[in-house]
This record gives sequence, structure tokens and C-alpha cells, in this order.
Amino acid sequence: MNETYVTRIVKLGTAVTKSKLPEQASVVVIGGGIMGCSTLYHLAKMGVSDAILLERNRLTSGTTWHSAAQVRALRNSRNLTRMIQYSVDLYSQLEKETGQSVGWIQKGSLSIATNADRLTHIKRQEALAHTYGIDANSVSAGEAKERWPLMNADDVIGAVWSPDDGRVSPSDVCAALVKAAKGLGAKIFENTGVTGILTENGCIRGVQTAQGTVKCDAIALCTGLWSRDVGAMAGADVPALACEHFYLLTKPIDGITGNMPTLSDHDSHLYIRDDSGGLLVGCFEPMGKPIMPGVLDESFEFGLLPEDWDHFEPMMELALHRLPPLETAEVKMLLNGPESFTPDGSFMLGETAETRGLFLGCGMNSVGMASGGGAGMNLAHAIVHGHTAYDLSEADAKRFAPVFNNIDHLMARAPEILGTHYEISYSGKQRATARNLRTLPLDAEYRAAGAHMGQFYGWERPLYFGKVVEPKLSFGRPDWFEHVQSEVSTASQGAAIFDASSFGKIEVTGPDAEAFLLKTCAGHMGRAPGSVIYTAVLNERGTFESDITAQRIGDDHYRLFTGTAAIKRDLAWFRRHADGYDVTLEDSTERYAVLGLMGPDAARIVSEVGAPELNDLKYFKVGPAYIAGQHVRAARMSYVGEAGWEITCKSENASAIYAALVQAGARPAGLYAQTSMRVEKGFCAMGHELDSDTSPVDVRLAFATRKSGGFIGYEALQGRRDAGAKPNVISLLFDEKPAMPLGHEPIIVNTEIVGQITTCAFGYRVGKLVALGHVTVPLKEGAQVQINIAGEMFRAKVSHGPLYDPDGSLMKG
Ligand SMILES: Cc1cc2nc3c(=O)[nH]c(=O)nc-3n(C[C@H](O)[C@H](O)[C@H](O)COP(=O)(O)OP(=O)(O)OC[C@H]3O[C@@H](n4cnc5c(N)ncnc54)[C@H](O)[C@@H]3O)c2cc1C
Repeated sequence: MNETYVTRIVKLGTAVTKSKLPEQASVVVIGGGIMGCSTLYHLAKMGVSDAILLERNRLTSGTTWHSAAQVRALRNSRNLTRMIQYSVDLYSQLEKETGQSVGWIQKGSLSIATNADRLTHIKRQEALAHTYGIDANSVSAGEAKERWPLMNADDVIGAVWSPDDGRVSPSDVCAALVKAAKGLGAKIFENTGVTGILTENGCIRGVQTAQGTVKCDAIALCTGLWSRDVGAMAGADVPALACEHFYLLTKPIDGITGNMPTLSDHDSHLYIRDDSGGLLVGCFEPMGKPIMPGVLDESFEFGLLPEDWDHFEPMMELALHRLPPLETAEVKMLLNGPESFTPDGSFMLGETAETRGLFLGCGMNSVGMASGGGAGMNLAHAIVHGHTAYDLSEADAKRFAPVFNNIDHLMARAPEILGTHYEISYSGKQRATARNLRTLPLDAEYRAAGAHMGQFYGWERPLYFGKVVEPKLSFGRPDWFEHVQSEVSTASQGAAIFDASSFGKIEVTGPDAEAFLLKTCAGHMGRAPGSVIYTAVLNERGTFESDITAQRIGDDHYRLFTGTAAIKRDLAWFRRHADGYDVTLEDSTERYAVLGLMGPDAARIVSEVGAPELNDLKYFKVGPAYIAGQHVRAARMSYVGEAGWEITCKSENASAIYAALVQAGARPAGLYAQTSMRVEKGFCAMGHELDSDTSPVDVRLAFATRKSGGFIGYEALQGRRDAGAKPNVISLLFDEKPAMPLGHEPIIVNTEIVGQITTCAFGYRVGKLVALGHVTVPLKEGAQVQINIAGEMFRAKVSHGPLYDPDGSLMKG
């Protein structure tokens, strides 16, 4: 520990409260790192004057105190970027607000590329930065060298310069936040560890400490690497695990005369900056070192882990190549600190599915300082207002399958996630560890047919079928291109089987089933048994919580189908609105398999396999039938723009039904084919075109809401209608020029950015690249736009309807 840190700790020690623990507080924040301090500050700012923060040791003594504390604003999504921009604004004004310096140094950052794909990657980021209003410019290798004279730039082929990035002093930021929060009535208690959490009927009631019990309605769980254990005290899954994270510190060296930009050499897994006249060289090595829970207990206060030069050596070699002066520099220390990582590399924010009133603000994946300001604001917002300030579904606390909380899976996955921190964002990249956690009922059949699997909510789902063992990652035409082409051609000329078994399924039963769904869903839920109802599930703001398809099986029985990763969130949402209704809600996901049989040949096939009566079923109707002697329910609907049925059967009967369908001529198709066909057809999907910032009127789905109202979100939806809200989702058909968009690319009209791509794919039926996107200005049918892909412009034509629509009736109920 160096002297600077000690002084900071002493300073913080004087900032905290010595008073007695209250018996009651509306919100208890647990943990005094950046996340806890920021959340407390924002709670106080939002008027929660009796919030308290409990820290079992001293403030910042977990991970925060030794953070390198770089703040780089650009993330892959608009709202994560917006969140960090909020941090930047907050950190740069905190001194003025509190009188406490936060050590904000805004010297920018320089990302270098040493290979063609990295150059494409950073140029894509530059384009993204412009979309989000962040300053970023491509510079030559020579200019990069001028900005970082100590670097060896011999192998550098280009760079991007981001002038607004900076860094802070982590302990000082926390001191300032705490000072301001205290001024607004919040109280901080150090040396007060939470030893138990009180719940009643699945709701938070209080916390236990050695100093007494505090009753409360809500907890902000900001306990860093200990969050999995603390979450378990309240019965909640918190899949986060610590890994060792290293940076090297040298004594002062010649050539460093003041503060310098951060140098990001991500091909070498390195970040580099000055520190007290010397160098700080940090790394995200390809495979990190996980730490078993329990190894670091409450005695780990202002603690560091042992240096591990063997592990760091490959990174050291890369650093010596990039920074020749390191050769002779005197090493101060190889700092090794723990930081927590989640199974997908994004943090967890918001209320848990398991326990009402338990809000997570943890699993920061090494961007806790950059995110802390904005994440704390959003966490406080979620506690006070019931939702984050803007859609943050990438960080939703309810997004992980329970299987990911398993310690073996976390020990395998977390170190891989550390290594992905600086990876190039290729499309379709899959994780290598913690695989095969959940397999589809037809897993063996798909593998025998050559399925290449991808993981979704723990499920292994076929992406495509064919002989590519491990697809080569690139920004060019993927090597599975022809495989997917052949699957689309099967679906459009014969019959394909799309597996939707992993979709979340919820049985809603009971005398109030209809009344309950009329309240919680915006769609036409009162339709007669035998109907299929596509519906938006809206919140009070009239924006999407989810979109689902309901099958009405009887007067008092509906089966809801939701997205694969949405089941935990949606089930929690429905349960939380079920008070006063005589309904039972049950997760039946694993009980049923769902096979989408789609294509012109589907009609012949259902007749051949024993269910000719399905041909009499009208669109958006569901009926029972027998296929290969097994009972099924087939719904006449299509997500891919080819006529067909979604066939639901008991999981154990799926093999017999699949065999009969294949025998009759159907062939399996994967998710890539489905996405391509969805985009051609112009169907919006949650997490892409739909989110909690979007309402049905924005995306042409108002037809799926009831004009008569009576559902959650109706008034807000009407408000949007009355205010003249117009659809802002468009379809795009690219020109012939080969391009490889991945999503998020800016849409440009006359040099002005007017929107962003949300999903893109090659449209095999139209023979061109296709995309969906959101725009901020009205664009006419047929208007020409340009898409910026890694700095190169590609022309595309706007459409307000499907780009491929062989049967316009497919989506109509
Ligand atoms: C070497 C290193 C370099 C980094 N560099 C950067 C960077 O450049 N930029 C960046 O953005 N991020 C960086 N990070 C990550 C960042 O520092 C962390 O994400 C952040 O500090 C985590 O803050 P936190 O509040 O979530 O957790 P912590 O700071 O660990 O705080 C959690 C607190 O909870 C307390 N606690 C635990 N259990 C209990 C209990 N039962 N009762 C009461 N209190 C409890 C702990 O004592 C601890 O103080 C770095 C991390 C490391 C390790």
C-alpha cells in the first residue's frame, strides 16, 4: 500500500458518522465502495433523506481503493454510454459541489491497432462514438506516436483518439459523494457488517448487524465481490465471482513529465498510463485467475493479493515490446487486486426476481469506477421510481438463468470473461466455458444433423447446421453463409423446423385468468379459447416490459410464450401484479418443446404425419392434433414470413414428432436463418427494436393494443398517441456493395446522423443485406440513407413495411 492511499483512507475515516444505528431506514445501502457511495448520494439527492450505508470495514476498503479508475465513456450501447457520460459529468463537477477534490484528470485516451481487424473494430467504435455524441477521431500511427512518444509504434497501423476520457481518484470520489449525501441527511456506519437479511413473504424487511437490527423496505446490495454471499442471505441469486486483476507500477522514468492520455493497446491486452511520474501498465490477459468464494473474507480490508510474476510474464513481454523504456524501469509493485465478473461481462442493476425490495448494484466487470456515477444514479432511480432512468436491460439483475449461480460454472466462466474485456466485437462470438448447461429436448438430433450451437440463457440452441466446426471470426462474409442460405431456401421452398423450445412458458390458470391478463397485457386477451394473441406487456410509462404470445387453451387457462432470456423477468413481473386475482402462475418452460414448422411444404407435411385438420386452422388460432401418435397443440402463426405452425408438445414426445416431420421431408434450421427471415419480414424483437424506452406506437405495434384500455400503461400510451408520436422504426435494404454491419451502426442523411441500426442480417430471399433501425427524423418510403460501417459509407433504401412479404396476412390476428 503506498502513502497516498493511506492519507486518503485517514481523510475518509473522518468523514463518517459516529451516531447510533437507527432502528428503521427506508433504504439500507450495503457496501461502501464506489457503487454504495454513489447510490447513497443519489438516493439523498432524490429525497430519501433517511437512507443509511452500512460498511463492514471502512469506506472504499474492498476493491475501490486500488482501482486504476480510468473513465472511458464509449460502450457498445447508447444507454451504457449515456450512463458513463453521466459519471463523467458528475465527477467533473463534484469538487465544485462539495469542495472535495476528486482528482479528475481529463487527458483523453488513445486506442491503437496493430492488425486489420482491430483497426476495423476501433473505427466502428469511432462511428459509434459519433452516434452517441462523443468526440473521437482516427489518427495515423505517426500522430499516435506523437501523443505517446514512449511507445514503440513500429507495428501500429492506425489509432483512434478520444479527447474526453479521463480518470479520477477513487477514494476521493467516494469521499465527495459521502460528504454530499451526509449534507442531505444520509448516514454512514463503518465497521458495521450486515450478518443477515430479514425477509417476509419474499419481501425485504430489514438487516441484521452485530450492532443491532435495522428495519427497511429496500436494500441496495453494493457489496462488490462478496455480493453472491450477501444476496444468498436474502434468497437471491447473484452470479458474480472475483478474479485477480493486475497492474504494474514503476518508479518515475524519464519521458513522463506530467499526466498523459491512457494508451489502449488491446491487441496486447494492455492499458497504459502515467502514475506519479512512472508507468501504470494494466492487463486483461486472455484467461484470468478466479478466486473461490470464501477465500477473501471480512478481514480482507484494503487488501491486495500476492504478486504473480509467472502469470503476468506473457503480458510483461507484450508491455516491453510496446514500451521499450520499461526494460530499465524500476518496478514499484505488481499490484494484484480482486474484481468481480459476471457470466456475460455486464454488471447487475435493479431489483432481483427472487426478493422484492432487494436491488443489486454489483458485478462491475472492471468498469465500476467509470460506471459508478451513472450506475448509482440508475440504482437509486430504480429504488425510488421503480425503474431505471432509461433502459438498461443489458444490466438487468433478472437476466441470468439460475444455473449460472452454480459455483463450478462461475469458476469456469468468470476468468474467460476477464479475458474478453478487450476482445474485438465479432458477430456471433460464443463463450468456450460453462457450456452445455441446458440442452434442448432434441439436442441429440440437432447435433447428429450437424448443429453449431450458441448459448442463450444457458440453453444450447442451433445457430446453423453444416460442416463448419469452429467458424472463423472475421468482419467479412462468414463461413456459414451458404449453410444459412440453404436453411432459408428450405424454409421458403420446402419446410424447415425452427426450434423454439427454449422460449419461456408461463401457465396462467384460475377463474381470474382473463381478468388478470386483461389488466397486465395490452393485447386482445379476451378472445375465445383456441385463439393466439400477440400482446405487448407494458409498464405504467406505456413502454415495453415484454412482448409475448398467448395461447388461450380454455376459459381459465392461457399459456404465455416469452423470449428465451425473459422468463425470470416476466414471471416476476406477472407475479408482482397478481395480488387480488385468483390465478396461479407456473413456469412450464422445460415441460414443453416447441417446433416451428415453416414453409410451403408444411401443409403437405402436417397431413402426412397425421394432422391434416391443422390446414383448416385459421391464422392466430391454436388447436389440438396428433402427430406421430403424440398429442400436440399447433398454433397457426409465423415469425419468419413463411406459412406454418408452432407446434407445442411434451418435451419427452419431441423426438418422435421430429422424426416424423423429418421423415416427411422437413429439415432443421437455426437461429441465424430465423433472424435473417425475421428482419426481412420487419418483425421487431425485444432487446433489439423493443425495450423499456419504446412504446407500441413507436414501432407500429399499436394494433396489438386494446383501444378500450383497462390495462397497465394505457393512459401513458394514449398520452403518446395524443402527442402525435409516430413510428420511428424502419427497414433498410442495402445496395449491392458487400458490407458487414453488426448492429448499432449510424444511419446518415446528408452527413447528419439520424438513427441507428438495431438488427441486421443478410436477406437471402431478397438477395441483399437487410436491417431494422430506429430513426429520430421522419424518412419517406424509398428514401436513400447511408450507413457508416467502420468509417466506410454504404447506401441503403428505407422501407416502412416488410422487405419480403409473400403472404401479407401472416401477422394479422
Ligand atoms: C486492479 C484494478 C484496476 C481497476 N481499474 C479500473 C479502471 O480503470 N476503471 C474502472 O472503471 N474500474 C476499474 N476497476 C474496477 C473497479 O475498481 C470496481 O469495479 C469497483 O471499485 C467496484 O466497486 P464496488 O463498490 O462494486 O465494490 P467494492 O469497492 O469492493 O465495495 C464493496 C464493499 O462492500 C463491503 N461489504 C461486503 N460485504 C459486506 C457486508 N456483509 N456488510 C457490509 N459491507 C460489506 C466491502 O467491505 C466493500 O467495502 C479496477 C479494479 C481492479 C481490481
